[in-house]
Amino acid sequence: MSSFQHSLVNTNLDFEKDGVQYGALRVPYSHDRSAYGYVPIPAMVAKRGDGPTLLLTGANHGDEYEGPVALTNLMREFPIDSFNGRLIVVPALNLPAYLAGTRTSPIDHGNLNRSFPGNRNGTVTEIIAHYVETVLIPLADYAIDFHAGGSSLNYLPTLFVDRPATLEETHRLERLLTAFSPPRAIYWDYFGEDRVLGAAASRHKTFFMTGEFGGGATVNLDGLKVVREGIAGVLGALNMLPGSEPSEPARSIRRLEVQPEHYVSAPCGGIFEPRFRLGDEVTAGQLAGLIHDPVTPWREPVSVEFNADGVALCIRTFALVQPGDCLGHLGRDLAA
Ligand SMILES: [Zn+2]
Repeated sequence: MSSFQHSLVNTNLDFEKDGVQYGALRVPYSHDRSAYGYVPIPAMVAKRGDGPTLLLTGANHGDEYEGPVALTNLMREFPIDSFNGRLIVVPALNLPAYLAGTRTSPIDHGNLNRSFPGNRNGTVTEIIAHYVETVLIPLADYAIDFHAGGSSLNYLPTLFVDRPATLEETHRLERLLTAFSPPRAIYWDYFGEDRVLGAAASRHKTFFMTGEFGGGATVNLDGLKVVREGIAGVLGALNMLPGSEPSEPARSIRRLEVQPEHYVSAPCGGIFEPRFRLGDEVTAGQLAGLIHDPVTPWREPVSVEFNADGVALCIRTFALVQPGDCLGHLGRDLAA
């Protein structure tokens, strides 16, 4: 890549230095209140020995909290003396959105996880994406990006993994999936979406996992436990922190897949009365909910049905809907 495309983000962290460092990724943000200002995205680099590099990120969307909280605790208590490798932790990748408690950035309305590969000369959100794509991901052998449903959705804690293409990838995925030990894992292929962090990882051949660990702009305690134990398990499996794995035996993992027909969306605006709960096993044609007309409430509500069989993994939090809003989605057990 030619030099004029180098990221405009600078940092007081040295990714090659041994020990634990805390600092900031400084994203230039020149505006009326601050001519020479920058957005200081907090980060930790821990390096010791010759193990692999693992990148852990949260608050790619600013209203999703299990990842950021787990990563915040990990940073503070990091046991460098028994560590081998390099760990880069960024609990709040889209810091302006995290500070505002919103999915997108209040600065530029940027949705970071729809902004890859980013733009060196773009908005703050695009500059963050460009830095992740051109600096952080290329440093990483492994990356995990923690999500949740945000304000508008609620999820059963679920890890999302890429479908492995080769036998070698299958073995590596199996090792790390078992180590993470989530209650359920979805195998998916992004439906062609190439603006997400996972697509950036795939462009650079970085092993990538993501996941949805709660939602409703809260901290889901079950999801937080899954994230905390998952990180410990992965650090153990990569020999970065041997013995860090939870002592309990690994959970049985329900393996699922998701396809476009598993999503349910609102055909019209109104007030959504769901007729399912998270975890329900449903069948195609079953009523997912009713949408009531707020202006002519005496009219029959519009029925919304599921298009496929499966388990309800995700449900909308807001009752008020507009056409095209996601009402929830299912997962289908993976064929053995
Ligand atoms: Zn998200």
